[in-house]
Amino acid sequence: MKRLFNSASVGPDRCIFCKIVRGDLPSNKVYEDAHYLAFLDINPFSKGHTLVCPKEHGETIWDMKEDEIGGLFLAASKVSKAVVEATGAEGFRFVQNNGEAANQAVAHVHVHVIPVMMEHKGKTMNRLKLDEAEMQATASAIRTAMAP
Ligand code: 5GP
Ligand code: ZN
Repeated sequence: MKRLFNSASVGPDRCIFCKIVRGDLPSNKVYEDAHYLAFLDINPFSKGHTLVCPKEHGETIWDMKEDEIGGLFLAASKVSKAVVEATGAEGFRFVQNNGEAANQAVAHVHVHVIPVMMEHKGKTMNRLKLDEAEMQATASAIRTAMAP
């Protein structure tokens, strides 16, 4: 099958998101089940910007089975509701980059869940730098909103 070029391509041993899944790298987790993990983006476009990834390493959507792709977006949909509730957002974006040409910087499949406000409408969003206390508080609020 055709593969998409990515200069960031690495195996599971060196992959940042595999390290987060294994607990070898810290992250602000907001949701986890047997197959998927969600955690705050370290360099968010907005407060609550979350990444949802399969625990199993694969570079792009093309590396996943169809039911796993469905499961990934179902997990992202659940996470989106908690992210919107916790942040008071008025909308959200799913962004899912595949391949270097699409700006995929981490070569492990993931869906961005980016909460947005009306003030963001029609504007380019810039990366924020939130301090660790604010990241932890945001993750905690999302985890609370995830609770059944
Ligand atoms: P991509 O461009 O591959 O779709 O997005 C990768 C995202 O991963 C970026 O938004 C970037 O800020 C985020 N990221 C990169 N390294 C780390 C990390 O070590 N921890 C976390 N939580 N996010 C990361
Ligand atoms: Zn990986």
